[in-house]
Amino acid sequence: MTFSKSILKWFDQHGRKHLPWQHNPTAYRVWVSEIMLQQTQVNTVIPYYERFINSFPTVNILAEATQDEVLAHWAGLGYYARGRNLHKCAQAIVEHYQGVFPDTVDALVALPGIGQSTAGAIISLSSNQRAVILDGNVKRVLARYHGIKGWPGKTAVANTLWQWAETHTPNTRCADFNQAMMDMGATLCTRSNPRCDRCPLQKDCYAFHHSQQADFPGKKPKKIQPVKTTQWLVISNPQQQYYLEQRPPQGIWGGLWSFPELTLDDNVQEYCKTHFGSIKSLEYYTAFRHTFSHYHLDIHPTLIQLHQPLLHVRDNGCQGWFNQQELAEIGLAAPIKKLLRRLL
Ligand code: SF4
Repeated sequence: MTFSKSILKWFDQHGRKHLPWQHNPTAYRVWVSEIMLQQTQVNTVIPYYERFINSFPTVNILAEATQDEVLAHWAGLGYYARGRNLHKCAQAIVEHYQGVFPDTVDALVALPGIGQSTAGAIISLSSNQRAVILDGNVKRVLARYHGIKGWPGKTAVANTLWQWAETHTPNTRCADFNQAMMDMGATLCTRSNPRCDRCPLQKDCYAFHHSQQADFPGKKPKKIQPVKTTQWLVISNPQQQYYLEQRPPQGIWGGLWSFPELTLDDNVQEYCKTHFGSIKSLEYYTAFRHTFSHYHLDIHPTLIQLHQPLLHVRDNGCQGWFNQQELAEIGLAAPIKKLLRRLL
């Protein structure tokens, strides 16, 4: 049996067919799910996806939303550039394509946040046209099956994987095949403890026959992650409101709301005196670490209570006081949420 026939036979019996984005799989719905599923597990994505589609059922409605509204729906999923790009992409589709998704891979990859594999998934899963995908799950299956050495982040390794993906993708039932490959990687050919005993590819799988499942795909060459530090000023007033500032659109947590930041060397007493006048209390709170893909950030919160709110804020809409209910409605980065949960 050919590779694709084995995969499709397995899909008919075991593939996932009831995920929320598989009902009425329009390009819009598939696109939102694909962006959310990058670096995130299906079970985590489902409630976010349902809430998102409920609030933004069409690309036009998403394009009209404010970035803040979009990021508030994204908060907790991480990798916020995805949320910002999703919003920008919706606006580009409305502006350049009258709200209708283009139907070629080339046109899709020219849009913000859509890579080659996502474009292939949008086309194949929404219209069953033939288009090739190569997400993390598919890379793992192909690297193990063919024994492709090296880290897929390297161009030469990625090119070999793309060639195999191209070779195996059938002309018919492309949607089922691509869904099956993603499902295989997520449920059988998992990163650790793959279920080779249930796998339809076992007979010809290189990694299985050499007992080298753990060696494929090759690991990224290790780099020691630098550690950065920051001091957060967690300023509250007697009305139980917290003072937050909106971050600039670029950079970490772009567009989300966060506490004012100082370096550890800054004199916080001096700073408070200059900016807030007299303060009621100041307490150094337990530091904690947040890890990004390329560095660790050690966060040192300083809790400051004021006698009264500062009146000059909210002048430009990028700073303000928020009570507990309002905090739930704005886009907050995950570590800000975590800290607020502890404090409130
Ligand atoms: S046999 Fe095992 S390693 Fe090979 S593709 Fe199947 S699950 Fe993955």
